[in-house]
Amino acid sequence: VLKDLEYGDDEKPKYAFCESVHAGPLARWHIRKLSDVGLKLGGGIDTASLCGRVRPMGDMTSGQRGGGGWDLRVRIRPEHFHTDQLVVCEACAAEYLKADPEV
Ligand SMILES: [Zn+2]
Repeated sequence: VLKDLEYGDDEKPKYAFCESVHAGPLARWHIRKLSDVGLKLGGGIDTASLCGRVRPMGDMTSGQRGGGGWDLRVRIRPEHFHTDQLVVCEACAAEYLKADPEV
């Protein structure tokens, strides 16, 4: 069961949920498109979230220094978007659903 709910070590997902290093326990999850390096579960994300709010450490794209973040092993599933209880950042969800309409 866990295998369906989480990405395995041998998997190379295209997208992943990520969190900012500044995220509190109730913060929504963001989504980023992964590079070839894959999941960064221990921190050190190397691409920005789709909404641009979570950025790699030191990234200066928006004029403010990126603080970094990490990925979650949680598999992205339709339930994450089709629910009343929003757990995903709305801007990230909108971009993701545009890019990967299978979900
Ligand atoms: Zn976001």
